[in-house]
Amino acid sequence: MKEIVIIGGGASGLLASIVLKSELKDNARITIVERLERVGKKILATGSGKANFTNEHVKGNRYNHPNFVTKLLKKYGYKEIKEYFGHLGLMTTTLTEGRVYPKSENASSLLDVLRNKIRELGIEEKCNFDVKKITNNHDKYIIESTRGLKVAADYVILATGGKATPILGSNGTGYQLAKSLKMKVTNVLPGLVGIKVDEASIKGLEGLRVKAQVALYAKKNKEAVWESHGEVQFKAEAVSGIVIMDMASQIARAENEKTFNATHFVLDLCPEMTLEDLTNYLVNRQVELHKYTNANFLIGIFHKMLGNNILKRAKVDVSGYVENLNKKDIERIAKAIKTFLIPIKGLDSFDHAQVTVGGVSIDEVIPETLESRKNAGLYVCGELLDIDGDCGGFNLQWAWTSAFVATKAIIERINNSLN
Ligand SMILES: Cc1cc2nc3c(=O)[nH]c(=O)nc-3n(C[C@H](O)[C@H](O)[C@H](O)COP(=O)(O)OP(=O)(O)OC[C@H]3O[C@@H](n4cnc5c(N)ncnc54)[C@H](O)[C@@H]3O)c2cc1C
Repeated sequence: MKEIVIIGGGASGLLASIVLKSELKDNARITIVERLERVGKKILATGSGKANFTNEHVKGNRYNHPNFVTKLLKKYGYKEIKEYFGHLGLMTTTLTEGRVYPKSENASSLLDVLRNKIRELGIEEKCNFDVKKITNNHDKYIIESTRGLKVAADYVILATGGKATPILGSNGTGYQLAKSLKMKVTNVLPGLVGIKVDEASIKGLEGLRVKAQVALYAKKNKEAVWESHGEVQFKAEAVSGIVIMDMASQIARAENEKTFNATHFVLDLCPEMTLEDLTNYLVNRQVELHKYTNANFLIGIFHKMLGNNILKRAKVDVSGYVENLNKKDIERIAKAIKTFLIPIKGLDSFDHAQVTVGGVSIDEVIPETLESRKNAGLYVCGELLDIDGDCGGFNLQWAWTSAFVATKAIIERINNSLN
């Protein structure tokens, strides 16, 4: 009987254990070692507690290394994952933009179907087992915890996650383990996270949400380096929201790949109109609202505080009167609405990140199997690898996909050795 140890009872580790035991049955003993007091803690926090666990539009181009991921997604993509979870008893629902959730819209349903299967299959979970050392001793891996407990394995799956939101388990120790096994780890940065910005530029906007077209600009680039659309949420010193979190990952990837150095972003707060149409609209609006003070000119379009911020940017006195605005004032107001510039200070911390950008270099693993090139029989799964995806179910999809790839390779090897 082969001993397989999975380090990390998160998304990829839990699914890996099920795939392995379901197929290898009595030919393998599967053990999950997990540093926290219970497995799957992060799963419960995903998708704001609803678990957006895959996406109907999963494609390689939603990840930082499209070529690497595309081939693997072809084998274990959205359809295969949804079907597999269906066999585990999970009914699903698709909400906006192809995002797939458990029908209950409760992450516990996702974790419960995994845990039920783990129990049924008799897979052992060793919790409070914080792995600090992996050594290779005569074809066996010895995995040692911080408390000196040891387990031996013929095959190891390293599924410790990255560094995002360490309170949920993945605290970056996986990188130390990988390095101790001579694997190269790229620089790691927080991804899918809020962005710290110049406070003065968003003064008074805390708590507001606006839909906008978002364009990212960088040093030495005249044109926008990235663009998207979505809801922007303002905080005291930062901005957040899905579109901003996606932009944060782009900034982090660019920093790692040295492709650009992001400086600021620009919101188009009225993307449905051209600058010219908006200016004409405001000119007509001036006629209708000429008796109002300027502070009321944009009410009905934007929240009052956002309106005031726009007027300030346009250098228009809020206490003046709409009838006294001249053409140039109106043009500046329209411009401030269409090019609402916000200087970037930096990314928010790992404590608030949903994913890690960077990780164990993809060059360290055989792309078809995710087996370490330098450590035979040891496989790397999930977020620990230098793979990160957009917000919308793409990161959990990668956790599932990579779990399938690695486990199928292990199953094939064990089955071949038995025949
Ligand atoms: C708040 C939040 C919301 C998210 N929402 C979504 C979403 O809706 N959709 C989506 O696709 N993605 C989402 N993600 C990202 C997604 O959860 C991760 O990408 C995914 O869980 C990674 O899976 P993994 O198996 O690689 O690692 P993890 O799920 O992080 O699991 C790693 C496990 O390994 C354990 N571990 C770590 N080090 C050790 C060690 N040394 N010894 C033993 N055990 C160890 C950890 O405790 C943890 O249980 C979210 C992330 C966060 C933080």
